[in-house]
Amino acid sequence: MCAMASSLRSLVNDDSRYQKSFQIFLERSSEHQCMRDFIHNKLPDILASIGDGKSHLNIIGVGSGAGEIDLEMLSELHKKHPEVTVDNEVVEPSCQQINNYKVLVSQKPDLDYVKFHWNTMTASEFEEHWKAEKITKKVDFIHMIQMLYYVKDPEATVRFFQSLLGKNGKLLIILVSGESGWGKLWRTYKTELCNPEISQCVTTGDIKSFLDSKGMSYQSYELPSQMDITECFTEGDEKGELLLDFLTEVLDFSNTASPELRAGVLEMLRHPDCSVESNGKVIFNNNLEAIILDQLS
Ligand code: SAH
Repeated sequence: MCAMASSLRSLVNDDSRYQKSFQIFLERSSEHQCMRDFIHNKLPDILASIGDGKSHLNIIGVGSGAGEIDLEMLSELHKKHPEVTVDNEVVEPSCQQINNYKVLVSQKPDLDYVKFHWNTMTASEFEEHWKAEKITKKVDFIHMIQMLYYVKDPEATVRFFQSLLGKNGKLLIILVSGESGWGKLWRTYKTELCNPEISQCVTTGDIKSFLDSKGMSYQSYELPSQMDITECFTEGDEKGELLLDFLTEVLDFSNTASPELRAGVLEMLRHPDCSVESNGKVIFNNNLEAIILDQLS
């Protein structure tokens, strides 16, 4: 594997800048909207099938961020299983995000059916903890939304969490689609941009190929999404720079990348493989894909 050029630092090493960039990304994209569409239109039927008639469900959210999306899923679950109580393990290493999630929960009056367990740790620390404690309870629903970029071995992570599913349990993975602008950008600039200590540049294309190679069945859904990256092309624009950091996952990309790399990435970002230009706006293809796995047979 190629090392990242030594002058470039990964954005994930600076949580405060990461969270700022992520916030601008959410404002400039239909990221959460396309997830909400999926959660309200497709997920309810999937959630209806979990639980096997039990009065209590176990859920794990991995890389939950501030929990906005998690709470929408919980509310759909509650509609399908109104009598059921829920144990919800939140696995999230950023304590800033855990705090944001706790604030969100405290503002929602109708969550009495859920008991939250806060785990300020990474997915692999949670795995160690689960194994060390020899926990044998089975889990009904696990989700990992836009987080597999941050683990060293996505396949092993998927395998571990899938092994926790009980009867009728489901594992939901959402990542950028292999056909998105992200996929194209990463195929071109993987060596320069992607942090080799984590998987970083993984797409649902990669996940589906390892599932296919193991003959494992899954369901998948396309989630069309866009991101307005126009500001990235105005040099010195503060939001543009934050977005550029998010797109490249490099801390302070504009000021630390070589002029050639910067020019190449900017050209790629507005290339028709990644974006469409209309009305003076550059709209990046942010399509996501959801994959649903069942309990291991
Ligand atoms: N699921 C949320 C947040 C996605 S951002 C949403 O879709 O809005 C990715 C999240 O993964 C961040 O909150 C980040 O702190 C978290 N994360 C980073 N490394 C992680 C790891 N190793 N294990 C679990 N979560 C991780």
